[in-house]
Order: sequence, then C-alpha cells, then structure tokens
Amino acid sequence: MKPTALITGASRGIGKAIAFRFAKEGYSLIINCNKSADALMTLKEELVAKYHIPVLASVGNVGDYTYIQQLFEEIQKEFGGVDIVVNNAGISHIGLLSDMTPEEWHNLMNINLSSAFYTSKLAIPYMLSKQQGKIINISSVWGNIGASCEVAYSASKGGLNSFTKALAKELAPSNIQVNAIACGCIDTEMNQCFSDEERLALIDEIPAGRFGLPEEVAALVHTLANESNYLTGQIITLDGGWC
Ligand code: NAP
Repeated sequence: MKPTALITGASRGIGKAIAFRFAKEGYSLIINCNKSADALMTLKEELVAKYHIPVLASVGNVGDYTYIQQLFEEIQKEFGGVDIVVNNAGISHIGLLSDMTPEEWHNLMNINLSSAFYTSKLAIPYMLSKQQGKIINISSVWGNIGASCEVAYSASKGGLNSFTKALAKELAPSNIQVNAIACGCIDTEMNQCFSDEERLALIDEIPAGRFGLPEEVAALVHTLANESNYLTGQIITLDGGWC
C-alpha cells in the first residue's frame, strides 16, 4: 500500500506541485485550501482521472483548530490516518510592523505556525501506532535570517523552524521524521505582488539567476518523504544559493 499524504494549501503554487508529485507515485491524498474551492475540486478531478488515486479534497482554514479536528475525523474514516503531513499552507504580509494590526498578526501566526501544531498533534497518534511517519514543513529563508517589512512572516517561519527541530527530537525515538524546507524565491502567486523591476532586481541577487520552481520544491518534499529515517530535525534551504 502506498502512503497517505495530507498536503495543506494545495489549490495552487507549491502545494499543487507537491500533490502532483505524490499522485504520480500513487499516494492517496488529502488536499486542502481555504478560499479556492473550485481550483481544489478541479485539481482533485485531474488527479483522480490521471493517476487513479483516492483523493479527499477539503476546504477550510488550517489556522482554525475546529476545522482541523473535523478534517482528521474525515481522514480517519476514509484512510485510518496519514503517513505524511506536508504543512504547506501559508500567507505573506508585507508592510511595516508598526502598521500591522494584532488581528493580522494573529491570523498570520495561526495560518503559518499554529496550523503545524494542529495537524501534527492530530497526525502523531496514528504515526505512533505505526512507528513511522513524516512531517514536512514548508518554511522560508526569512525564517532563517529575517526580512524587513516581513517581520511577522519571518517570525512565523522562524517559529516553524524551531518547531521542526524540537518536534524531531521528541519523535525520533518513535521513528517519525520532522524536517523543513526553507524556500527562497519560488515562482508562485505569492510573489505576484512584485513589479517586473522588483522581480529583476531579486533575480539579480540570486546566484542561480532565476526564481525556483514549485516542482523543484515538490521534488525535495518527495525526497524527504522517502529519505533515510536518520534524516530528521533539518531545515533544508532551497534558494539557488541566495541567502
Ligand atoms: P500561494 O501560491 O499563495 O499558495 C498558498 C496556498 O495556501 C493556496 O493553496 C492557498 O489557498 C492556501 N492557503 C492560504 N491560507 C490558507 C488557510 N488559512 N487555510 C488553508 N489553506 C490556505 O503560495 P506558495 O508560494 O505556493 O506558498 C506555499 C508555502 O510556501 C507557504 O507556506 C509559503 O510561506 C511558503 N514559501 C513560499 C515562497 C515563495 O517564494 N513562493 C518562499 C518561501 C516560502 P486559498 O487561497 O484557497 O486559501
């Protein structure tokens, strides 16, 4: 039996590429997003038609624990549990910290950081019962080094990095691996806010001379999902040599 993977934020961008990568290998999938229900349903139809795999598509906010509890009830009914959790859903917030409202701060923290706690908390019991499992968190280079005008985002991803390292230590004795990928600039809608000029300036700073592709992140997620059990607690930077 191929493993079952939960991928949050799969309606587009990196999450969608991860869904395709796993589907190609015949994994059973649970895909999620919050707002783009039509895109998620279209993705589900595409994956089922092309790869003939079971897909559960679920729309809801990963930053809401009640929703994640309902999602795991459904997962338990359909699949028993999940072997792989990819905490990918995330939002950015660009602006001065002093202009950010506490509501915006808490919303971002819930989506980018608390969600990883919620999914991990509910995925771990099944993983423990099987004495195996993988939790892969999609982080950012800003979580490593911080970015001006992205303080909350940097803090959420820095938190996700520490969450990854600490949880890896807690779960290594149970043969469950926890790793993160700290992405640089990946060519998705999240970066559509940049003007052509800003984009070129960014590319100029990246030694590889281009943005990364969602498919490149997906390939690394797939590698981590199949890597040696000894690889855990790592924040792997994928940024074309940028940071
Ligand atoms: P994206 O194109 O904006 O896609 C984000 C995905 O997350 C969408 O499917 C979105 O669906 C979903 N999402 C957002 N809020 C959600 C919520 N509350 N609950 C459930 N799903 C939610 O972004 P991306 O570039 O693929 O980013 C994916 C991850 O990579 C994020 O964690 C991001 O921080 C990280 N990352 C990206 C880059 C980059 O350069 N692109 C760099 C470093 C790290 P809905 O719109 O339907 O909610």
